[in-house]
Order: sequence, then structure tokens, then C-alpha cells
Amino acid sequence: MAENEDWQPQARALAETLAADGINERIAQAIARVPRHLFVPPELRDRAYEDCALAIGYEQTISQPYVVASMSQLLEVVSGARILEVGTGSGYQAAVLCELGAEVYSLEIIEELSRSAAAALHAAGYDSVHLRVGDGSEGWPEAAPFRGIVVTAVARKAPDALLEQLAPGARLVIPLESGPWAQWVWRITKRAEGEPIWEKVLPVRFVPMTGRARAQP
Ligand code: SAM
Repeated sequence: MAENEDWQPQARALAETLAADGINERIAQAIARVPRHLFVPPELRDRAYEDCALAIGYEQTISQPYVVASMSQLLEVVSGARILEVGTGSGYQAAVLCELGAEVYSLEIIEELSRSAAAALHAAGYDSVHLRVGDGSEGWPEAAPFRGIVVTAVARKAPDALLEQLAPGARLVIPLESGPWAQWVWRITKRAEGEPIWEKVLPVRFVPMTGRARAQP
């Protein structure tokens, strides 16, 4: 399946599996439109439409489609919304957000991954994504406020800068460590007044967030 000529039926089958697992129609259709094989290394392309994480080098992974879909669903992306992703990785999550009509900003700490994600996004036709190399725990202040922020690596705590860069009513979707072994995706909704609303949503397994977030106690 070198060039994955038959990728569309495979992507549709993947989307149907996700829909059967509770992913809504709009997100499932976005998953069906993204050529995931362009975001994985050539030697893993025959596995691109399996619902699993795959290695992309530098000890990092392209996330499992179900997790990408669930986190996108939790963001409640409306068309035209400005969304920040922390952890570009392969670029796949950014592509799914583009399919949902988001204006995507994505930060990656490993320069080589940001470069290969840029190439994959271009090859797949997603040329509007704003990419930057840097520590995502600082966010992207010049582009804030965001209608949603998604973090695709596990942190010990939600970085303050990300909470600050949310618009009122916007959501931060982030995996957080919960003791030494467990990780959960949390959705934190900023309110115009008062404390944010915290919801513990989904058990997951993510690679660690590095940079300043890791150094903090
Ligand atoms: N969203 C990606 C995708 O669709 O392929 C999956 C990302 S992978 C699970 C997590 C990514 O977060 C890795 O590429 C890693 O280098 C990056 N990362 C970890 N800590 C980071 C930080 N502080 N700032 C920015 N990126 C970070």
C-alpha cells in the first residue's frame, strides 16, 4: 500500500468504528477526510488506519485516532475558531482541527518534528496551519485569546499561561498525571467570572510534556 491509493475507504471505515464508539458525526466525518498515512513514517503506512498510536521518531507518537477524535469533540470547535495545539507531533491532530474549520496554531518543542509535520500538512493540503517551534507551556501569547487549547502530551498540572490565553467560555483539553501510573484527559472551561469548571473525562496514555511544565514541581 505504498501510496495508499485506497486510503479513503480505510479512513471511512476508521471513522465508522469511531462513530460506533460514541464519536459524533461531524468529528467522524472530519476523521474520514484526513489522509492519516501521510502523517506516519513510510514503513508504518500500512497501519495508518488502525485505531492505534504509532511511533513517529524522537520517542514520540502520532496519537490514537479515537483519542484525537475525543479531544477534538471536547473542544467543541466551531468553524472559524482559533485553536491552539500544544504538541504538533506528526501534524495529524492539526489536520483534523482544520477539517473542523478551525484556524490552527500549533507548537512543537522538537524542531525536526515540526519540520516533518509542516511537510506532511503541506502534502495533505493543509497549508493554513501556523506552526512554531517552542515550549508549549508558554502558549502563543501574540495569537491569544484562543477559543480552545488542546495539549497532546501529559503534564503534571495545567500550565498557567495556557489558562490565561483562553477566551471566556473557551476550553483547555489536557491530559494530566493522576498519581504515578494514571493519566486522565481533563476539560477545563474558563468562565467570564469565577473559578474555571474542571471535568475529568477520559483515561489515556500520553508521552510526557517536556520543557518548563516538566521542571515545575
Ligand atoms: N498531536 C500529535 C499528532 O497528532 O501527531 C501527537 C503528539 S505526541 C503524542 C506529543 C508531542 O508533544 C510530541 O511531538 C512532543 O515532542 C510534544 N511536546 C512535548 N512537550 C512539549 C512542550 N513543552 N511544548 C511543545 N510540544 C511538546
